[in-house]
Amino acid sequence: MADKLSAVKGMNDILPPGVPRTEKLPDSAMWQWFEGAVRQVLGRYGYQYLLTPIVEPTALFVRGLGEVTDIVEKEMYSFTDSMNGDRLTLRPEATAGIVRAMIEHNALYNGPLRVWTVGPMFRHERPQKGRYRQFHQLDVEALGLAGPDVDAEMILIARALWRELGLVEGEHVRLEINSLGQPAERRAHRDALVKYLEQNAAQLDADAQRRLHSNPLRILDSKNPAMQALIEAAPQLMDFLGAESLAHFNAVRGVLDAVGLQYRINPRLVRGMDYYNLTVFEWVTDQLGSQGTVCGGGRYDGLIEQLGGKGAPAVGFGLGIERLLLLIQALGLPVADASPHAYAIVPPGAPLARVMTVLEVLRVQGVRIQQHAAGPDGPGSMKSQFKKADASGAAHALIFGADELAQGMVTVKALRDGTGAQVQRPLAEAAAWAASLQSTV
Ligand code: ATP
Ligand code: MG
Repeated sequence: MADKLSAVKGMNDILPPGVPRTEKLPDSAMWQWFEGAVRQVLGRYGYQYLLTPIVEPTALFVRGLGEVTDIVEKEMYSFTDSMNGDRLTLRPEATAGIVRAMIEHNALYNGPLRVWTVGPMFRHERPQKGRYRQFHQLDVEALGLAGPDVDAEMILIARALWRELGLVEGEHVRLEINSLGQPAERRAHRDALVKYLEQNAAQLDADAQRRLHSNPLRILDSKNPAMQALIEAAPQLMDFLGAESLAHFNAVRGVLDAVGLQYRINPRLVRGMDYYNLTVFEWVTDQLGSQGTVCGGGRYDGLIEQLGGKGAPAVGFGLGIERLLLLIQALGLPVADASPHAYAIVPPGAPLARVMTVLEVLRVQGVRIQQHAAGPDGPGSMKSQFKKADASGAAHALIFGADELAQGMVTVKALRDGTGAQVQRPLAEAAAWAASLQSTV
């Protein structure tokens, strides 16, 4: 036998319900339910769908994310195209690619754009629950819009999605926000911070010492317990914000307050990418251990110009789909039922052409039907077919027995309401009784 092939470490198959899963990730039915909710919600806010390539030039991410970020320093899947020597990278996040596409197609020429995409991202991290090497994000971006209303809109979109999925904000997911101000304000804060950290150099761990001059803000993000007191007392960016930045932040807060959305201002929220300014936010949960951030985003007014476009403001967020679905699973929230409405039981010797003609009529009416199909050993006994009908989750069995067929009828049996009730329906009028199957009780 040939060597057993398996998926790359940290990269998962998203499998249909019923397939035993080694990785405790949600099944594909939950995935589709989530995507349906996303389409609904983003449509309500007037966002349009787009797709960009999974592979981009490495330079895009180096220029876009910043050379000394975690992602660019140690998490990118970069390789040389063996055909032509190009340096390429599997996208670790979606924003840079979307901005590249918008610049390339001069997409902001006619005005601002609100877009979203869903797809795989790649980061070479240590795989663990909620952290994978291929994972999926919902990514939402508004380009060419500068106002605090749009920052608030981003946060409201996430909240609307939580509600659509049955998550309760403030309980299952909590909002944290901060303002990173503008580059000049950040520089002034950074200078003060470096000075402060230099004065306390003895308390810095190796990682912090390395970052002291390259990326001191990231030191504030350190999880090292030994440095928490030092971080706590560090100069805060909020104290360096000018009137305009403060007004922007307060306007965002004003909307959140008005709609009754609770949040915590977290002065240490800095986010991983260099491109952010003004508002940044994260939605966090306590349910997923150290992988507790399900959604993060913010404003990135400098990125479009930094990547060679005509300067334009922008704001967006990325949501980790695996983490969110793991959270919903852990909470045991109800997920829309994608089971078939009916399972068609086809006894050995039944006239398949006639049966399938009727099933087509029912499906045109919107009935979801799984037809029993013969395995390698034949169609299977009635008993085994009924077992499959139960396992399919269908609410009804359609029994195409010889006696019924002779009278132009099919038997409809209730499988899940506890009654086991049976009724006979005329085959010739299938369209008329199709609706009676469309309950999933
Ligand atoms: P973390 O601090 O957990 O590494 P991050 O700040 O690197 O997260 P972002 O770049 O902001 O994450 O990505 C947005 C979202 O994508 C995260 O909030 C998270 O839900 C999800 N995400 C990020 N990295 C991974 C990963 N390796 N596996 C699964 N989901 C991830
Ligand atoms: Mg990370």
